[in-house]
Amino acid sequence: MKKVLTIAGSDSSGGAGIQADLKAFSAQGVFGMSVITAVTAQNTQGVLAVQDIEPEIIAKQIEAIFEDIEVDAVKIGMVSRPVTIHTIAAKLRQYQAVNVVVDPVMVSKSGYHLLQPEAEAALVQELLPLAALVTPNIPEAEVIAGMTIHNLTDMEEAARRIHRLGAACVLVKGGHLPDDATDILYDGSHFEYLAAKRIATKNTHGTGCTLSSAIAANLGKGCTVTEAVKRAKAYITIAIEHSLAIGKGVGPTHHFY
Ligand code: PLP
Repeated sequence: MKKVLTIAGSDSSGGAGIQADLKAFSAQGVFGMSVITAVTAQNTQGVLAVQDIEPEIIAKQIEAIFEDIEVDAVKIGMVSRPVTIHTIAAKLRQYQAVNVVVDPVMVSKSGYHLLQPEAEAALVQELLPLAALVTPNIPEAEVIAGMTIHNLTDMEEAARRIHRLGAACVLVKGGHLPDDATDILYDGSHFEYLAAKRIATKNTHGTGCTLSSAIAANLGKGCTVTEAVKRAKAYITIAIEHSLAIGKGVGPTHHFY
């Protein structure tokens, strides 16, 4: 069985973060492992508090895994602060991690800064060069590329700029634009358009986490980036179609096994 690692934050409500990642890994038929960067006190209505994990413990978690187990792919999610990013980047370079998917998580749907604004530069400088794929949504792509995005042409330009920052491939997710949710995948030479119908639901908590984890799982299984993204997009579309009205706020996506 392929072994896939998530390096991300814990979501106590189970819809996003580490919990979503591990569910997505199981659903994709890979063995999931986790390095926890931060513990969030969170529910479907918002984030109440965050406790960042000390860098020494983050480094030890990564060491514990890589010294013992072959890691077929890595997904990186919530990384909070610069010291967390330095620690992760140094360890992944040391162990020459492969198939690294970076989900540049910045602000939760409820508006909480899961990445400190002063950590944005470190994320770009240290994590993008390690990434086989980076998966920004529109607001994240705007921050990383330093531009405003109104349409598909802007998304292409943002993908070019983000590729130049060091990511091997870039998936700009179009869900924040009006109309249907078209994502653009760029590998440095070709653009691939991935279209999907917009699904009428408010229950989309953890969609970004789930998508990036499903991509990492499929890269770990040996798929090309394009094939991994297509399979993960098909999975997240069904997971959103069947999302759960749990809690009083934005409910989670449904993982199918
Ligand atoms: N909480 C954690 C720990 C996360 O890693 C993420 C990832 O994006 C979120 C919350 C965001 O959740 P939402 O999909 O509601 O923006």
